[in-house]
Amino acid sequence: MPKSDVTELAASLEEYLGDPHDAAGRMPFAQILDHDVRGEYPYQFVALLRRWGLHLRCLPASDGGLAGNVETGMSLMRLVARRDPSTAVGLALNSLGFMPAWILGTPEQKGALIEDMKRGSSVSWGLSERVHGSDLVANEVLAERTEGGWLLTGEKWPIGNATVADKMVVFARTGKRPGPAAYSLFVLDKWRAEPGTVADLPFEDLYGTRALDLSGVRLDGAFVPDAAMIGREGQGLEIALKTSQTARVVLMHLALSAVDTSLRLALDFAERRVLFGDRISDVPYTRRQLTEAFADLMIADAMVLGAARALQAAPEQISVWSSVVKYQVPTLLQKTMSQLTVVLGARTFLRDHPHYGMHQKMVRDILITDIADGNTVVNLRNLGHQLAGLLDKAAEPGEGVREAAAERAAVLYGLDRELPVYEPVKQELFSRGLDDAVLAAPDGIARLRALADRADGAEGAEGTEAERLRAAADLAEELTGRAGPLRERAAALKAALGKDYAQSPELFELAKEYCLVHAAAACVLTHVHSADAMEAPLPSASLLLLQLERIRRQLFPHEQVTSQAVVDEVMEVLRGLHQDNRLFSYWQFPLAKRLTDESAARR
Ligand SMILES: Cc1cc2nc3c(=O)[nH]c(=O)nc-3n(C[C@H](O)[C@H](O)[C@H](O)COP(=O)(O)OP(=O)(O)OC[C@H]3O[C@@H](n4cnc5c(N)ncnc54)[C@H](O)[C@@H]3O)c2cc1C
Repeated sequence: MPKSDVTELAASLEEYLGDPHDAAGRMPFAQILDHDVRGEYPYQFVALLRRWGLHLRCLPASDGGLAGNVETGMSLMRLVARRDPSTAVGLALNSLGFMPAWILGTPEQKGALIEDMKRGSSVSWGLSERVHGSDLVANEVLAERTEGGWLLTGEKWPIGNATVADKMVVFARTGKRPGPAAYSLFVLDKWRAEPGTVADLPFEDLYGTRALDLSGVRLDGAFVPDAAMIGREGQGLEIALKTSQTARVVLMHLALSAVDTSLRLALDFAERRVLFGDRISDVPYTRRQLTEAFADLMIADAMVLGAARALQAAPEQISVWSSVVKYQVPTLLQKTMSQLTVVLGARTFLRDHPHYGMHQKMVRDILITDIADGNTVVNLRNLGHQLAGLLDKAAEPGEGVREAAAERAAVLYGLDRELPVYEPVKQELFSRGLDDAVLAAPDGIARLRALADRADGAEGAEGTEAERLRAAADLAEELTGRAGPLRERAAALKAALGKDYAQSPELFELAKEYCLVHAAAACVLTHVHSADAMEAPLPSASLLLLQLERIRRQLFPHEQVTSQAVVDEVMEVLRGLHQDNRLFSYWQFPLAKRLTDESAARR
């Protein structure tokens, strides 16, 4: 779908939902906070979004939904999550529950699930078990053969929407002994189960996304017919892992939205608050804090842009892309939230403040992006397993590999470039050393230098667009160039530790550093491949420079690269988007018109 069409859809959803600060709107912050305090499931918000058809934007058009590109549904979810992550998760869990069928379900299974959802039914994803957490091949829920189907026994917990959903896709052991081929997936219809075979577990009282139904089910010989099995017997783990890959990318919309809302609130505050005679947004230190938060958000935005598009344009590499974003985005943006807390100061503590009360909720809600669908540790481990291959390929890619990666990168990071149809069955569990972002980085940097040559500003002149682009290219070269030494360190570690290498904490640290190389490449590639699709005040060479500085600061926390002039230029970009009421993103969606009396923001 072209960017203009996605923007039009986004604008219509924003208009439907209204200004979140307006108590008379359809999804106001005041009501959302009330649900949050009481931990009450947001039925009415979920219902009004279903009436708008949002859930259908996340289900395949070929089987009765309206989805084409994954990023369209994700972009729309961002607009819900910027108001309420609990509602967004409540809705998104339906598409997660549908994913196994999308991957390997029959047309009948897909069609039936979508028809159900059109009539208001919902489906949850029953993978986790209390005792086994991330250790999926130890899971115990058992499926035993019976005439015409299977009997499911055991407990699934903690599961989002487990109680409110009518169906659950259950990951259960069909093999005699545990192991990768011992699991299968079944669609359990809770309303068709014999009395006494399905029991809902209590709603948990949550720290973040408090309005979400996080509960579980206890099964005691619950019958599912043969036709309820998704894929073949023994394919459950493979389908579950592919489902998690998509979930890891899609869930990132929530982290981006949490920071969008908190940054917007921090700006509302900083642009009004006068201390010692100055607006605090004009105080250099606070201005830097705000622009750095913006740069962090735009790093994450670039990374998620590439990863969401990789689901369609590079599904064979998605095991790497999904783990990179699942580690880096929540880790980075939770720190950003802390920085915004410092700007908002005492107002952070006021849960029912009429304007700023939402920030403390976003600080809590963003944590779900760290934990659900494979915590950051599991994702670093996945990267650790693949690291040597990724670094070997980056150093010695072989003939034509870089060129092919550069060609794909133009699609991966080109907002306006058409994507192939989403076919999740093509996702692979190992990427065989390929990561197009890292492989295409030299091409992206060369394009950046070419942009600098075409921009105004003689060689060596200070403060020009050309100078900013050249500085960004130099910095990007330094950051992405770390892949070489990283390879040597990984090889030395392997030689030193032998069989202990795979479990060593040092390998996790190397995997973290690899994520920074990928992040730097994502920022450069988004700038060069999406520049023409952006509207003023983007693209900004100063923003790119600050993004790269923020990545470098993860390695050298106290070394600043940018001048005050760069920060001032980024502040103009941020102010432009804020005053124009647009999403802080490369997508720049127009947000609902602000209708509220601004006096609440002055308190
Ligand atoms: C709000 C919310 C919604 C959820 N929704 C669903 C849902 O809809 N469906 C569903 O099936 N599940 C759901 N879950 C469960 C969630 O996905 C799992 O709990 C999670 O993936 C497993 O992590 P855990 O926190 O239980 O940690 P564990 O797996 O118990 O791990 C604990 C700690 O051990 C360490 N560790 C774990 N693995 C490794 C490793 N390989 N190497 C080194 N160290 C390791 C880490 O420090 C980790 O934090 C939800 C959870 C929450 C909080």
